[in-house]
Amino acid sequence: MQATEATLEAKRQIEICNACRYCEGYCAVFPAMELQRDFTVTDMSYLANLCHNCNGCYHACQFSPPHAFSINLPKTLAEVRLETYAAYAWPQPLARAFERNGVVVGLVMAASLAFVLIATMLIQSSSVLFSAQTGPGAFYRIIPWGVMAAVAGASFVFSILALAIGAVRFWRDTKTTLSGPITLPALKRAAHDIATLRYLGGAGEGCNDLDESFSQTRRHFHHALMYGFLACFASTSTATLMDHFLHWEAPYSWYSLPVILGTLGGLGMTIGCAGLIWVKIATDPAPVARRVLGGDYALLVLLLLAAITGLALLVLRATPAMGVLLAIHLGFILALFLVLPYGKFVHGIYRGTALLKAAIERNRNALVGEG
Ligand code: SF4
Ligand code: SF4
Repeated sequence: MQATEATLEAKRQIEICNACRYCEGYCAVFPAMELQRDFTVTDMSYLANLCHNCNGCYHACQFSPPHAFSINLPKTLAEVRLETYAAYAWPQPLARAFERNGVVVGLVMAASLAFVLIATMLIQSSSVLFSAQTGPGAFYRIIPWGVMAAVAGASFVFSILALAIGAVRFWRDTKTTLSGPITLPALKRAAHDIATLRYLGGAGEGCNDLDESFSQTRRHFHHALMYGFLACFASTSTATLMDHFLHWEAPYSWYSLPVILGTLGGLGMTIGCAGLIWVKIATDPAPVARRVLGGDYALLVLLLLAAITGLALLVLRATPAMGVLLAIHLGFILALFLVLPYGKFVHGIYRGTALLKAAIERNRNALVGEG
């Protein structure tokens, strides 16, 4: 990662914080910085992804603007985070997509929708597309299994590959300053912090989601989105296994595992996305980095549309609306897989990786202290 205006500004602020240490109980950033005396640009990449934008240090800080020190860690670290996404992205020419991510996501969404809708209309006669299809294989009578598997499978594999390469690049860069090996206790500690979104709870009373008062609002919406997304993924995986190995073709009954997981996941994603959009609109703008907002909103809107169209497809699957809804939903899923490696989603992966490094450092430091 190269030095930039944002990383140098972050380094200046981190050095002041490391002398002050007033906010050390707030999040994972402060305990991590306190283990160091000197900081590199790579350290900024690591610390920026440990920050989860709780705004706690901004509201607590006696040196925030208009003080001459002008400390605003949530804003500055958010800008560095955006630069880390681009720095580790694969393939690199697409990294520029992060710069105007809101516009890029909008264009990819429109293109994916148009592609799937037009392709469906070319494949299918209007008498089939606009008539009710029921019973096993109903979806494949609209879009043949091979076409659906090729579009969803290719975009999914591309997305996973791009995300994995980005994660490896991030880990390789940040582990240059790692002081010990990966251990089981460190893995367990990081997994616990990730699964519980521990730091979104602040020091117990929550984060400064909207203003200087504490709340758990963002943490709850974040949980709903994360577990909703995972439930939808589990639903699709289960349906794929049932189709391939049991030769049990969709659509499935309301009481089947894929439908239960998909319904819970879709509802969780809808509540989570709508709630997080509301928090972004209502929050105090002073600690917010405006540069990152377009991409954040665009990804949340895309996730929300994918969830809503999935639920609508579930409810209306036995009606003549199913054909067009299926194409629209597939269009949003295609767009989602294509943009996931170039937006805020990568923070989830980099943050998990940064939490692992933090757990290794803290466990090792505790052992050294005991020794
Ligand atoms: S954010 Fe302000 S109060 Fe908190 S550690 Fe940094 S300088 Fe100190
Ligand atoms: S905004 Fe929150 S998570 Fe980020 S450095 Fe400040 S206290 Fe830590």
